Amino acid sequence: MTDLAADLDGEVFWPRSPGYDDVRRPVNGAYRDVRPRLVIRCRSVSDVVSAVRYVRRTGDRLALRGGGHCFAGRSSTDGVLIDLSGLGGISVVGEVATIGAGARLAEVYSTLHSYGRTLPAGCGPTVGIAGLTLGGGIGLLGRRYGLTCDRLIGVQVVLADGSVVDCAEDREPELFWALRGAGGGQFGVVTVLRFATVPEPLATRVEARWSGGALEDVVSAWQAWAPDAPDELTVNLCVASEPGVPTEATLFGASLLGEGPTRELLQPLVSSADSIELRAGLPFHRLKSTFADPRGVPAVRMRSEFFSHSMSAGTVSSLLAQLAKGGREIAFTAMGGAYNRVAEDATAFAHRGERFLLEHIGAADDPWVDESWATAHVDGSGRVYPNFPDPALGDWASAYHAGNCSRLVAVKDAYDPDRLFTFFQGVS
Ligand SMILES: Cc1cc2nc3c(=O)[nH]c(=O)nc-3n(C[C@H](O)[C@H](O)[C@H](O)COP(=O)(O)OP(=O)(O)OC[C@H]3O[C@@H](n4cnc5c(N)ncnc54)[C@H](O)[C@@H]3O)c2cc1C
Repeated sequence: MTDLAADLDGEVFWPRSPGYDDVRRPVNGAYRDVRPRLVIRCRSVSDVVSAVRYVRRTGDRLALRGGGHCFAGRSSTDGVLIDLSGLGGISVVGEVATIGAGARLAEVYSTLHSYGRTLPAGCGPTVGIAGLTLGGGIGLLGRRYGLTCDRLIGVQVVLADGSVVDCAEDREPELFWALRGAGGGQFGVVTVLRFATVPEPLATRVEARWSGGALEDVVSAWQAWAPDAPDELTVNLCVASEPGVPTEATLFGASLLGEGPTRELLQPLVSSADSIELRAGLPFHRLKSTFADPRGVPAVRMRSEFFSHSMSAGTVSSLLAQLAKGGREIAFTAMGGAYNRVAEDATAFAHRGERFLLEHIGAADDPWVDESWATAHVDGSGRVYPNFPDPALGDWASAYHAGNCSRLVAVKDAYDPDRLFTFFQGVS
């Protein structure tokens, strides 16, 4: 232990050491009390090498933590936690951004903004760039530019034997393939990511609301329309209930078109809305920040599934009836566009033929999450986003990876033969 601490640029914390109680806890309240035996906060690639070698020697259970958002608690452990939040640093040369694995999305967007660049990535400002990218990366520019992992051009990784490799299309291509969309923490510790960025657009912020009324019609219209909208327009739909008030639907998103063309395009969808607000001319990073939820993430449970066709009217009615009790939310994310113009086996992200993603979000102890998921599952494709891992899934391997399963196992055999990077529902 003393040797480990002496070798590091970063720090080691164990339960009785000063600073242990201040170690950043996971974002999801459900995992806040899972406390590691030891935390190694890495500040350099050589720290990561020392940490990996230490865990190999001790045989401890291991978890890697970037932004700490994992819905299934995979970045929490009672063994050794390798905390990567100290691996910061973002540099931009031309169109290429080199980003330390500890960076979070807010910092990524604001730094890229100063170069007039951005990435298609998620909304949560504290989400880690590495965790997001390794599982795919869905966001408001995705229908135009694809997943975050589709913009990845190179990755530095510390492997299970402590060696450091750089991978790209032409170097360690199978590892590079697996790191684009199978989910984090499975093949090595990512220390640096290189992306081909895109120009930061001026965008129009879209928000419309329906309070009560015929929400079935709103959901049905969204399903039929949003996944086929022009790539420049991404609008997602959230239907939420609070006790004692009518269920409310909110359409929110971004358009790369001006206010007039955006309003015209949206007209068939929003004609019945109680309110619609369009704000044109926002730099994309500003638009993103307006959708950040200041409440953080309480102890929630979330289950999800992809859909390759619209749900039936009966399924939609049942979902809305079950939602009504309060404290519950279903959220629809439009896929299609550039997400689906990539072959299913071109990267490890296998879900390239889906129209939308549906999340069921409720309190950790609310059985409604399972009921609502089961109701929708009748019409679902059986596919699940690897960044939304779901401990309740039965056939999880085909749900996350579909036809890419056996190739992922081969990559695992080649790069982590002793299964150092192992967790529940991980490639094994
Ligand atoms: C509030 C909130 C908002 C979200 N918004 C979006 C969104 O808009 N779009 C979207 O696509 N997803 C979104 N997600 C899901 C998010 O992409 C995943 O939870 C993602 O895995 C989070 O990464 P993290 O680094 O923050 O979390 P962590 O829990 O730290 O990591 C997630 C997984 O990646 C592994 N990992 C982390 N860093 C590394 C590394 N350097 N090397 C290897 N493995 C690593 C961890 O071990 C773990 O298995 C959201 C989640 C939350 C809670």
